[in-house]
Amino acid sequence: MVILALTGGIDLSGGGSGGGSGSGFTFDGEENPELAQNCQTGDDANQSQDCRIVAVVNSVQEYWSGAVSGYRPADTVLFEGQVSTGCGGASSAVGPFAEAYVIAHEYGHHVQNLLGTNDRVGRAQGPESGSVRLELRADCFAGVWAANAIETGLISELTDRDIKIGLDAAASVGDDRIQEQTTGRVDPESWTHGSASQRQEWFTRGYRRGSDESCNTFADNAL
Ligand SMILES: [Zn+2]
Repeated sequence: MVILALTGGIDLSGGGSGGGSGSGFTFDGEENPELAQNCQTGDDANQSQDCRIVAVVNSVQEYWSGAVSGYRPADTVLFEGQVSTGCGGASSAVGPFAEAYVIAHEYGHHVQNLLGTNDRVGRAQGPESGSVRLELRADCFAGVWAANAIETGLISELTDRDIKIGLDAAASVGDDRIQEQTTGRVDPESWTHGSASQRQEWFTRGYRRGSDESCNTFADNAL
């Protein structure tokens, strides 16, 4: 993956310092003059992980600003060497596109929060639960962002291998995989994120169709 542009500056905090814990910092130009100064071009983004994350976050928020009226930017907390999200962390070891996928997935939750989807979903678990539908929709939104970032020329050279790495990252956080690794058995009734193949499938659907309208995981028979 090659990032061609770093748009929109660094002012991404949504106006507050919120979300930041002691060891992390937000992408706020005022709070992080160093980031603001160092991360200005596509070259910066390709050479520095921090700047790359800024570029991806900018790009994701730019897409959603255009797609959702009344979009509000979200805080993003960057920890050293990894992005920390509500759905698990992405270490820098997973590679640039897998990292971007995790960021885009997390913003998919932010968007659903703004749209009120989160509020309509209870805490039920299971293969067809609202929780799983929320997660798969966030995966689909990540695919939509990736397609859009290529279309608008923000990123280029997103190879099949990049995509495969992103999909592997999606699969590795599938409930079945995690359960198998941690308990040695798979119990669909306690799923909250969907299976490895579901997560890959919804990411791919968003990526191929490039429109968030293709992401209705809440439709009847969608899963
Ligand atoms: Zn999630």
